Amino acid sequence: MNKGLEVARGKTKVLYEMPGQPDVLVVQAQDSITAGDGARRDEIAGKGRIAAKTTARVFRLLNLCGLPTHYLSGGEDDDDNEMLVRRCTMIPLEVVVRGVAAGSLVRRKPAIARGSLIVPRMLEFFIKDDANHDPLIEPDEIVARGIANPAELAMMGEVARITFEILAHAWRRRETVLVDLKIEFGRLIGGEGRGNLVIADVIDNDSWRIWPQGREELMLDKQLYRNLHEVTPSDLERVRDNYERVAELVGTFPVTRTGTIALVADGAQAVPLLEPVVRSLSPFGVQCLRRVVSTHLVPGFAIQIVQQLDATFPRLVYIASGPHVAAVLAAATPNPVFDVTEMEADELALAIGKVLALDDTVTFGRTLLVQANARSAVLQADAQLNSPPPGPNGTLA
Ligand code: 5GP
Repeated sequence: MNKGLEVARGKTKVLYEMPGQPDVLVVQAQDSITAGDGARRDEIAGKGRIAAKTTARVFRLLNLCGLPTHYLSGGEDDDDNEMLVRRCTMIPLEVVVRGVAAGSLVRRKPAIARGSLIVPRMLEFFIKDDANHDPLIEPDEIVARGIANPAELAMMGEVARITFEILAHAWRRRETVLVDLKIEFGRLIGGEGRGNLVIADVIDNDSWRIWPQGREELMLDKQLYRNLHEVTPSDLERVRDNYERVAELVGTFPVTRTGTIALVADGAQAVPLLEPVVRSLSPFGVQCLRRVVSTHLVPGFAIQIVQQLDATFPRLVYIASGPHVAAVLAAATPNPVFDVTEMEADELALAIGKVLALDDTVTFGRTLLVQANARSAVLQADAQLNSPPPGPNGTLA
């Protein structure tokens, strides 16, 4: 790729400007692996390619779910380990989410048993400072030092937790436990959403702990390298094989298994009843089909439609326009059937999202986001209701 000036260099990556595109950077992953805040360093041929692939695939998954990230494109093909990202000013924090006790948590809090499940998930902030080994920092200290404001802090916490749950879902489906995860944020320097926070830096096999079958001794992540006393070439080969395996597994994460929703109206006059739920389903990115039957005039036709649809679509959910047609469909199909008259449109769309999320991580992530947005709408409505009325010329009184 045609790159401009080098703008920054980390322990495992180099950032370049993109000629003619001031809001875009090129991130090039290197073959190095480090531990102990850079105290130990080795080169593993091909690690940069594997890391770029892993990070691009993770970011592509998060983008598909609707989370804000800096990732634009690249990193997955034969492209010199380079990906394109939106340029940010980085917030000097490592945001860690923990689902199982390990690492620095059990060192700091020996009363917490290593390997124990953490629910609700624990959120911790560390300030980026290699010389002082990235110390823990409390949220009020982050605000007091002007590193982030309270709204940004809340947003980082919410996005980090959702990111963890999405990746934990993807790993669970591969019989692997996501133990903990570190992400970083930046503020977009230009373009649409300028100043907004996005997930930035990289998320690769250095950023998490993953235990296949929940067994620590089977770990596939960078901890294996951190734990080495002396580093032999065969150790590095083992680390490389694990990284390669992880990149391949992560390659299956952003695959969307789109669901199909068959909306079945009992008579043409019932079609409009189904439209509100079609609108509520839009954040889930599912395909909607509309069919009209008549349980009174042509009863056999409803059954015929069900048989056709069942034979065609692998992940199919029915929405019926009323209880009678719902009962007819439910008796004829092994797929889930919902009656539109039984729930509010948003509630029904969410219920369907949850059904499809069981075996699809993209839908799972979109479902989490719909729920988070619904929660935030309640808090905003409350805040607005209780905010002071505007003064005579529109300013706050
Ligand atoms: P801990 O605080 O237990 O050492 O780490 C928590 C999580 O954050 C682990 O998944 C670990 O891999 C990740 N992590 C902590 N520090 C760093 C770091 O400097 N770089 C990277 N890539 N990940 C880190």
